[in-house]
Amino acid sequence: MRRKLAAGNWKMNGTSADLDRLATLAASHGAAGCEVLICPPATLVARAADSVSGSAIAIGGQDCHAAASGAHTGDVSAAMLKDAGASHVILGHSERREDHGETDAQVRAKTEAALASGLVAVVCIGEKLAEREGGKTLDVVGTQLDGSLPDGVTGETLLIAYEPVWAIGTGKVPTLAQIGEVHDFLRTRLEERFGAATGGAIRLLYGGSVKPGNAAEIFAVSNVDGALVGGASLKPEDFGPIIDALEASAG
Ligand code: PEP
Repeated sequence: MRRKLAAGNWKMNGTSADLDRLATLAASHGAAGCEVLICPPATLVARAADSVSGSAIAIGGQDCHAAASGAHTGDVSAAMLKDAGASHVILGHSERREDHGETDAQVRAKTEAALASGLVAVVCIGEKLAEREGGKTLDVVGTQLDGSLPDGVTGETLLIAYEPVWAIGTGKVPTLAQIGEVHDFLRTRLEERFGAATGGAIRLLYGGSVKPGNAAEIFAVSNVDGALVGGASLKPEDFGPIIDALEASAG
């Protein structure tokens, strides 16, 4: 049985004034029946971890460097995130791949670093619109999956987020059949590489314009174990109902 997870990615949004969103979320969903993860900007990780302390809400980073420490001005290591109170880290988000040219090999190295520091890695993959329209979606996500994951991952240390790039922040969402096709494909690919037990235990999140109005139908799709939510995670009045929909889907 894979435990459902709702993750919020605040991206480059939020200052200390926004920490009260976390208090609101902790008050309403601090003991939710599914896992709840919030990934604020690195500047807020420590204070966010303090503000949800005592609730079941977990805090994660949005990226980490592959090295443990050293001459990498402006970067943050996995160990630093862990030390600040994070338990998870998002890696290979399409905005990192696009803005910083991150490759699958770099995402793999970062994932290794995250696991070595005891963080759970949330590895993002997803096709661009031209790739979708060119019928290349499964090729693209399969290649990203293969190249971004190190050996030795488990259902406890890794989650995958399937995020079609064209659906992120656009209000466009794939059909439920398209989401199901990719998630079923990823499940098979994980089972082939890591074996049925491990491949069957790794949770697959969907991400891309998840909102209160579409969450329930997305969570009913085969092999969708939760969501990675950007814009809607910034508002407790939107993220709360998404968590509720996920809990309801868990039965
Ligand atoms: C994201 O940033 O991972 C994301 C899915 O964003 P949004 O929900 O805003 O599309």
